[in-house]
Amino acid sequence: MPRPIKVTIHTSALAHNLDVARRHAPNAKVWAVVKANAYGHGIDHAYPGLRDADGFGLLDLEEAVRLRELGWAGPILLLEGFFEPSDLAIVDKYGLTTTVHSDEQLRMLETARLSKPLGIQLKMNTGMNRLGFTPERFRAAWERARTIPGVGQIVLMTHFSDADGERGIAYQMEAFERGARDVPGERSLANSAATLFHPQAHGAWIRPGIMLYGSSPKGTAVTAESLDLKPTMTLESELIGIQEVPAGSTIGYGSVFTADVPMRVGVVACGYADGYPRVAPTGTPILVDGVRTRTVGRVSMDMLGVDLGPVPQARVGSPVTLWGRGMPIDEVAESAGTLGYELMCAVARRVKVDPQ
Ligand SMILES: *Cc1c(COP(=O)(O)O)cnc(C)c1O
Repeated sequence: MPRPIKVTIHTSALAHNLDVARRHAPNAKVWAVVKANAYGHGIDHAYPGLRDADGFGLLDLEEAVRLRELGWAGPILLLEGFFEPSDLAIVDKYGLTTTVHSDEQLRMLETARLSKPLGIQLKMNTGMNRLGFTPERFRAAWERARTIPGVGQIVLMTHFSDADGERGIAYQMEAFERGARDVPGERSLANSAATLFHPQAHGAWIRPGIMLYGSSPKGTAVTAESLDLKPTMTLESELIGIQEVPAGSTIGYGSVFTADVPMRVGVVACGYADGYPRVAPTGTPILVDGVRTRTVGRVSMDMLGVDLGPVPQARVGSPVTLWGRGMPIDEVAESAGTLGYELMCAVARRVKVDPQ
């Protein structure tokens, strides 16, 4: 028997979450963001659930080609654009839309030989300070792009730093409006948080990612359930051992957890080499046989410990849910000091995938 750990991808939940995005922005077209191998779900597994999107946003040319192989004939947007002139041959061959955020990319487009004009999303840096032209330089970049024969439709794009947080998007909307004044074209501004919480930023295209995968951009502060988002990935395993330990015993590496009373401790076939965060401390929530309990001790490479106090019926072979249905990924992420994004992206190749 293979190791009992597996990840299940819930195709119908992906489709449901896409509908939630559409419900929030009924007049916008949706770039379903499937970068990082569809946030760890696998492009192949996510595509059937998200095929009602208007387009797909991603970073890697190989992922774009994979979507074409899967039969997707619609728009595909490269969120970071292309990296060197030879990439443009692939962009051209597969009919991709590309972000353009730099003068270097404009120069490459000017000298490229393309079979047909490319759609581009011209990116403004409105304060995130990662990629894009400043508001002051945006109009000039747009004028330059417009004169390039290889450039077709130009959509105006930016990205928010704080759509999920206190600061909000006003400072960036103000910069965007200043830079894009009198520049015609559709707009593409909103990530998941802006899709959910800032309708004034919807524009012609939204670019939701994390919400499609059933995690809340606000983590546990505004739960995924309260946003009607359903988990799309369930990471499950089983108990492969049980220890009955007397008071004073320690569990696992570093002896960081001490049982202060006699305890039953379950050993789960899941560790950091499967993608479970090693930094998740004692007390991280976990389901054993459908009952919520807590991890105990340090997460090992291939195993972790759980408190079986609340689950007296547990035995070797009992099912364990690390996250997903019944165990919100955002709660596990919060306990580990990170986000649902990082957990889903980190699921290791050795975990077998069960599409549903
Ligand atoms: C990742 C990404 C998104 C999606 O962000 P979420 O927070 O996952 O919704 C949108 N736009 C760009 C440019 C991105 O890189």
